[in-house]
Amino acid sequence: MNDGTTIFAPASGFGRAAVAVIRISGPATADLVTSVAKRLPPPRRLSLRILREPTTGEPLDSALVAWMPGPATFTGEDMAELHLHGGLAVRSAVMAALAAHPGCHIAEPGAFSRRAVENGRMDLTAVEGAADLIDAETEAQRRQALRQLDGVLGRKVADWRDRLIDLLAGAEAALDFADEGDVDDSALDAALHAKARAIRDDIDHALADSRRGERLREGYVVVLSGPPNAGKSTLLNALSQRDAAIVSAIPGTTRDLIEIRCDLGGLPVIIVDTAGLRDTTDPVEAEGIRRTRNRMDQADLILALQPNDEPHDPANDPPDRTIRVQTKSDLGVAVNGVLAVSALTGAGIDDLLRFIEARAEQALGGGDALITRERHRDGLTRCSHHLSRIVSGPALPELLAEDLRLAVRALGEVAGRVGVEDMLDRLFSGFCIGK
Ligand code: GDP
Repeated sequence: MNDGTTIFAPASGFGRAAVAVIRISGPATADLVTSVAKRLPPPRRLSLRILREPTTGEPLDSALVAWMPGPATFTGEDMAELHLHGGLAVRSAVMAALAAHPGCHIAEPGAFSRRAVENGRMDLTAVEGAADLIDAETEAQRRQALRQLDGVLGRKVADWRDRLIDLLAGAEAALDFADEGDVDDSALDAALHAKARAIRDDIDHALADSRRGERLREGYVVVLSGPPNAGKSTLLNALSQRDAAIVSAIPGTTRDLIEIRCDLGGLPVIIVDTAGLRDTTDPVEAEGIRRTRNRMDQADLILALQPNDEPHDPANDPPDRTIRVQTKSDLGVAVNGVLAVSALTGAGIDDLLRFIEARAEQALGGGDALITRERHRDGLTRCSHHLSRIVSGPALPELLAEDLRLAVRALGEVAGRVGVEDMLDRLFSGFCIGK
């Protein structure tokens, strides 16, 4: 919860850079800026100032200062930014000077965004969009995050919620007049049911997206599986064109999972090299195999590698989602109908990458998804469930109103309107400091 304090934090990354930005928000912002920069600059204009240690007057840096009085700011509070020279000592000295000011402290991760939500400047989905934008590694992720920051999901949820609140108001009014006996409410019920159904259908339509949005955020997971020495590590290196895994001729050296993240045609693809699948008594290797099985369960695509110099073992044959890939094709004749690659000569590697890209496009492409997190899906599913109870048949007016109330609440949680403190704590702790 916002405790009325003033917070500050570096908003740019850590380490050495040309410029480091310190962000300040809260009621003491003007005092804080005045204490280090002497005069408050004109609002919303970058002004050059010498920053000084408030008690000794020692110059700390010459910096650009922006002063942005609330409430039309990111957090809705008075805010300022200090654009310092991006050296470690400069930043530490200025941070120490700010920390000495009473009522001010360094912001926790996500604290600025949390104030933005609490002060009604942004809904939770938009703030999540901003966080995803910072984490976006590929074009498709960037576009999705920007849409969410822009409020595509937030507006939908707000619209559904408004319409449900109207229905709830009607249902509550009907409850108040229920005793009067002479009111015929069957027409009212039919209209309410039709409206609830329309909203439920809209929500179900958004939910029927094969988790495209979540998967785009998380990445399309491709697992390389196969017996030890099948050439998994070598193939991973060839696919990523960098040395990500140890290549060795001793079976079972890839004891843990090694993942590389790549950008295939704008889509995030995670390729996972796994420990060889074989019976073992070595506990370290057994742990590697356990993790392999877990990752394979979550995989979008499994490439079952079968080396060309070994007879095909049907026991390793794939469940669905699995494609057989013949490795070391330079050693012999390729099997028909199977993707064949040689990490040694590079033959077939581009075809394999194009194949993975097409599969990822199939899974993650196909239109813009509205839902990008499990949290959204959970809230919308609960909302749809309560509306389905209304739609499915006549109920006592009290129960109907309660279902409407719970449906409204579920949407409120998605938008961050109903402050579920633990959920907000958990969510914002995953944000960057200064965000
Ligand atoms: P992993 O246990 O499945 O990860 O297999 P590795 O990637 O460690 O490879 C096992 C052995 O096969 C190593 O000696 C590699 O040099 C060799 N190898 C891997 N890929 C190829 C290939 O395309 N052609 C040939 N000839 N040898 C390969």
